[in-house]
Amino acid sequence: MLNEKVASLLNTQVNKEFYSAYLYLHFSNFYSELGLDGFSNWYMIQAQEERDHAMLFVKYLQNNGAPVVYEAIDKPAADLKDKMDPLTAGLEHEKYVTSLIHTIYEAAYETRDFRTMQFLDWFVKEQGEEETNASDLVKKMELFGSDSKGLYMLDSQLGGRVYSAPSLVL
Ligand code: MG
Repeated sequence: MLNEKVASLLNTQVNKEFYSAYLYLHFSNFYSELGLDGFSNWYMIQAQEERDHAMLFVKYLQNNGAPVVYEAIDKPAADLKDKMDPLTAGLEHEKYVTSLIHTIYEAAYETRDFRTMQFLDWFVKEQGEEETNASDLVKKMELFGSDSKGLYMLDSQLGGRVYSAPSLVL
């Protein structure tokens, strides 16, 4: 049986991951309206990944006999005006998600819940990659975004991203 606090934090994370998906759909839509279909594609796939993350937490709770409660998902908070805005908001959001994962890990550690710690290991690594990707996008936009050819190349590159299922299977 999962510790009550750990189970509650894991259930909250389901909502947070769905919120991430919702936020990235908002970003995807913003870029679609700007005509930057590559950026739009990148965030559409990012949203799919976040949904996968949510379902991994659902599956883990189910596998461990803990209740799953689906709460309301907040409206995406980012106010987007410039093509850089989703990228910086995305980086900040991923740092926040990292802090959430670490908080769950801490609770699992305190209760010697080694199974949950092992489950979360994948997410700790994943968050490292998410932050790196988000930070790279900010840097690339800073470098190439003000030049129309550079922006076109960047958009084309991001348009090539294809969805792949998460490497973690429960
Ligand atoms: Mg996630």
